[in-house]
Amino acid sequence: MPSLSSYRDLIDLSPRTTETGPTSSAEAQLDALSHLYTEYAGEDPEAYIPTPHEFSHQPESRRNQLVRDLLTIRDPREGPLPVKVVEALEAGLEIKSRNSPDPLVPIEEIKSVGDELFPQLPSTELPAGLDKLAFWRGDITRLASDKLAIVNPANTRMLGCFQPSHLCADNVIHAASGPRLRQDCFTIMESTGRSDLDVAEALLTKGYALPAGYVLHVAGPKLERGAEPTVEEHQQLESAYESCLDLAAEASNIDTVAFPCISTGLFAYPSGPAAEAAISTSLRWLSSHPSTPFRIIFVLFSSSDANHYLAALSSLYPSLPPPKPLVKHFALPERVKEWVREADSVIIHAGAGLSADAVDEEYGIGLDYNSKELFKKLYPDLLETTEMRTLYHSIGYDYEDVTPRKMGLHPRARRTSPVLGTNSRLLPPAPTRHHPRHFQYRLSLPYTILTSNADQLFLQSSFSAERIHNPQGSYSHFQCLKPCSPTSFFPSAPYFHAAAPHLSPTNMRIPPSLASELIPSCPNCGGEVFLNVRGGDWFLETPQAGQRARYAAQITEQLDAARSKGRKVLLLELGAGFNTPSVVRWPGEELCRSSEGLMRMVRVNLAHPEVPGELKEKGWAEGVRMGALDFLQSVLEER
Ligand SMILES: [Zn+2]
Ligand SMILES: [Zn+2]
Repeated sequence: MPSLSSYRDLIDLSPRTTETGPTSSAEAQLDALSHLYTEYAGEDPEAYIPTPHEFSHQPESRRNQLVRDLLTIRDPREGPLPVKVVEALEAGLEIKSRNSPDPLVPIEEIKSVGDELFPQLPSTELPAGLDKLAFWRGDITRLASDKLAIVNPANTRMLGCFQPSHLCADNVIHAASGPRLRQDCFTIMESTGRSDLDVAEALLTKGYALPAGYVLHVAGPKLERGAEPTVEEHQQLESAYESCLDLAAEASNIDTVAFPCISTGLFAYPSGPAAEAAISTSLRWLSSHPSTPFRIIFVLFSSSDANHYLAALSSLYPSLPPPKPLVKHFALPERVKEWVREADSVIIHAGAGLSADAVDEEYGIGLDYNSKELFKKLYPDLLETTEMRTLYHSIGYDYEDVTPRKMGLHPRARRTSPVLGTNSRLLPPAPTRHHPRHFQYRLSLPYTILTSNADQLFLQSSFSAERIHNPQGSYSHFQCLKPCSPTSFFPSAPYFHAAAPHLSPTNMRIPPSLASELIPSCPNCGGEVFLNVRGGDWFLETPQAGQRARYAAQITEQLDAARSKGRKVLLLELGAGFNTPSVVRWPGEELCRSSEGLMRMVRVNLAHPEVPGELKEKGWAEGVRMGALDFLQSVLEER
């Protein structure tokens, strides 16, 4: 690892002293943008370069985006930007930060694990070191303290991410800090003469426009998606945490380190083991540095991150009582709050993200079709006997390569049982506290629902079947797989209920001896059946006949009320990403656009919250980077 002393004098690591940030005129901001653009277009002699005046006619949001994109792709070998440009860019960032709907969070306000999660527990019963740890849910770039170092989960090049559209933490941190962050990283890397650092080697820079005084940069191990971590990768992850703490201790001026989840997400380290490594390594480090004043904050962005850390804590300390739920610290944009508060009727458009957030209390995981962890919990046996690793694999999975005898599976059950098992175990008939029932109850507004989820979450949460449109089908029916006729479908519930007590707990299959009795077949032709979901060209749309027209009529009704009585219509899109965008995401945008300002659209999405620019600028649509569950909870607080 490059020693701090080797670059300490090459970059600015002095403590931040100014109480108020730099100021900068609107002209200076435009000049800075113009400078960046000229530099970017410089390679192309034909390029048209807008004047600062022309830039001034663009909406502010677009100018900010342009600055951000240009800085993201800027090669640090171009050399440092002129001081005036840097000052203007940093001042612009600080103004943006001050105006952000998401308030700054002074780290003194963040409670320790004991106070936050186990308020009833006497501090003497708290395991050693936990008083120095904190779990906090929110955006790492909002944490404020001059003596705080936030950890940037970087790649080994250490220069940031060069893809403007990437939503990685590396990009978010660089964008909020400004151009000097990359320049400093570059200066350090130049001094080492290396193009890459090793995994777990850390660097320290200042935070610049960030509300945190410092940034520690470290790359964690990167795994093949779906792979179990090797012993070496496990050690690398642990040393990534250790390197950051060692380096922070070596620098004076730092008393708190805030870690995001290193190596999870894009780097594919499984979240559960990563959480355990993060906590146990930090505690070990603290106990071997007993005189350190350090606090360590784990910044958990999503509800699933939070669940993993809580589970890891319980497994490290089985004697601890169950922790209190960890509440999030996201703030909703003002106008979103207003739209939600003032809505007279609501159109709910739901995608896979909603079901993934409907967490089952027994498993601590939602119905996430991509989750390997969920699959492992539901079907440990199938991991050994098949190549299935996620619920997605179970749809249309071909079992022909495995003898039915070995599978303990009646041939006719082969396509129904995995989903059948999921359905009966993950979605109990009674709504759990995480279901959107409460939302409807508190909202008590006229609604209509379009959902791409077949899991009947809305129906089981007491929403009216008359107001739900399931274009992708629903687990409510079985259908003939041929299909032999358009009416070869029938309700599934009686079969689920009859089969539930007989399902094997480890592979969720029906015992072969009961297969002929419990597994349905087509009442018309006697052939195989499957759930009525759009899984192939056999899909029957007949069970949903009339839904589309009814949905359209309900929308028209809402828009008529908006037109004639000034009623406010809210289109709430929950967790609809790019899996099947033509089913939920794009139609929602089109609905908002074509209603010409009669409705407001709120897109709630953890990965892709962006809304089309023209809808945002007209004040018709807003995106919120949140999980569906977090959003619904915030909405409950609002109304
Ligand atoms: Zn990236
Ligand atoms: Zn049939």
